[in-house]
Amino acid sequence: MGIDIETEYGGSGLSFFASVLAVEEIAKVDPALSILIHIHNTLVNALIRKVGTAEQKQKYLPILTQSVAGSFCLSEPNAGTDAFALKTVAKKEGSDYIINGSKMWISNSDIAGVFIVMANTNPSAGYKGITCFVVERNSPGLSIGKKEDKLGLRASGTCMVQFDNVRVPESSILGELGKGYKYAAGFLNGSRIGIGAQMVGIAQGCFDATIPYTLERKQFGKKIFSFQAMQHQIAHVATEIECARLLVYNAARLLEAGQPFTKQASMAKYYASGRYKPVMESHSYACHLSGTCVKQFEVSKCRIYSCA
Ligand SMILES: Cc1cc2nc3c(=O)[nH]c(=O)nc-3n(C[C@H](O)[C@H](O)[C@H](O)COP(=O)(O)OP(=O)(O)OC[C@H]3O[C@@H](n4cnc5c(N)ncnc54)[C@H](O)[C@@H]3O)c2cc1C
Repeated sequence: MGIDIETEYGGSGLSFFASVLAVEEIAKVDPALSILIHIHNTLVNALIRKVGTAEQKQKYLPILTQSVAGSFCLSEPNAGTDAFALKTVAKKEGSDYIINGSKMWISNSDIAGVFIVMANTNPSAGYKGITCFVVERNSPGLSIGKKEDKLGLRASGTCMVQFDNVRVPESSILGELGKGYKYAAGFLNGSRIGIGAQMVGIAQGCFDATIPYTLERKQFGKKIFSFQAMQHQIAHVATEIECARLLVYNAARLLEAGQPFTKQASMAKYYASGRYKPVMESHSYACHLSGTCVKQFEVSKCRIYSCA
């Protein structure tokens, strides 16, 4: 939960790279859990660590390392790809802000205790009015909709989050007033690396489930692995996964070194997310189309299909 949170707050004191490795490893067996780990660490924890005040760090980081999940609330019904068209507002009233609006597709929101919320404090300034707030789950007026009935990542809760006159103190502002769009854009760049790692993990999980079957299943008196046409496919897929992994690791390395990494993070996400599908198809081809019913497979293998 607190992979790269400093040990003084109860975290593991590791690195961003370590978070990426954790996301990849977990995605091999449970892609839905990996997205929870990814958003919690590379968006929520990272934002509080990098732009939070000493008080915010002291208040939230210890609980985020142990018992409380975090959610990142940017998207809205009419602000998806065009995220900065968001309509949620935070109006100043005395020393408080009153948040009103709806956030959509919010991962972890079914279980989260801490919400990072992008809301506009100065709509006349357009996206330059977007400010980032930390909002607690028990805030009056904050309600969570039902879980979306998704095709994949089904164990990861994705819900609408409604803010009806949610009153938060000025001290809930994370970072600077009107800098929310900068934080969202910047941290989502890092988040792309986490999504890339998730895709590499899913692909590797499929691959690891496929190879033992090809070594066990016999046709024409031989293990199907021994056919050269099968080995060509396996070598191709293994190379594709390794290419995606290296793109992800390179982007993580650049981020950690404080070097420009936006291009590399985008390439890593793009390439890795394009890889997991052919790998799953190869898995399907090697295992299922060869006369084996899905139900015969272990839960972990079936989970890859239902979760990815
Ligand atoms: C499982 C899941 C979890 C999510 N978790 C979170 C979360 O935790 N927090 C959060 O804030 N959001 C979350 N989201 C929302 C996600 O960020 C949005 O789905 C995403 O930004 C796309 O928005 P949209 O779905 O409204 O698609 P739209 O913006 O409506 O896009 C629809 C299609 O049009 C294309 N399109 C749009 N604009 C252009 C353009 N200019 N040029 C070319 N094509 C374009 C898109 O590529 C897409 O194919 C999640 C979404 C999903 C599916």
